[in-house]
Amino acid sequence: MQIDARIQANVTALHERIAHSCRAAGRDPADVDILLATKQVPADRIATAVRTGIRLIGENKVQELAEKDAGLAGLDCTRHFIGHLQSNKVNQVLRHVSCIQSIDSVDLADRLQRRLDTLDQTIDVLVQVNTSAEDSKFGVTADGAADLIREVARRDRLRLRGLMTIGLPSDDPELARPSYRSLRAIRDDVRHSTGGELRLDVLSMGMSHDLDIAIAEGATMVRVGTAVFGTRQA
Ligand SMILES: *Cc1c(COP(=O)(O)O)cnc(C)c1O
Repeated sequence: MQIDARIQANVTALHERIAHSCRAAGRDPADVDILLATKQVPADRIATAVRTGIRLIGENKVQELAEKDAGLAGLDCTRHFIGHLQSNKVNQVLRHVSCIQSIDSVDLADRLQRRLDTLDQTIDVLVQVNTSAEDSKFGVTADGAADLIREVARRDRLRLRGLMTIGLPSDDPELARPSYRSLRAIRDDVRHSTGGELRLDVLSMGMSHDLDIAIAEGATMVRVGTAVFGTRQA
């Protein structure tokens, strides 16, 4: 199959899979957004997927954001940053994205706030929580999440939309379920303890191999790379 045809077939299969998972969970597929995770994917292939109607793109590296700018020009899509954001890359990332899903420290929130003040702009953000307690992974610890969420919410240039996590990486997708359940529990606790003032509607969780479980646990956004674009180079 041609690459374009394969991407289109993968997108169709993905929609069916999400619809199936939503039915099983008693949810409406319209409540689950798909974000294309496009690290290492060239712009022309991303464009093929965007033309099927998927509008959200997530990049992990600031450099790839810039490189793919021209190839995505004119397409109806929105870009998010989903990788670890180093403080010295804040200015660059703000040029390309409308949402940063990886806020993991007060320091990063402060840098963004200051820069956005200068630009007189705002941006959507998610707080990234490390729900699997793996040392290698970024994100605020589950214990520190509530404090960071409240700090971020106080910064008026950051529009806090919700939470993001990366599930425990494993061959058995079922092992990611506790991660996803705990992200939702953190959200529910904060929502409750703020009397609903902090809604945190977005739960960005679930990837190609475990999105069904994330949907069962309440994901409102799944981030999908491999299932649309095929296996990446290691
Ligand atoms: C790569 C990546 C994904 C998608 O992973 P796949 O297994 O290819 O679907 C999702 N989220 C983040 C943060 C990623 O880096």
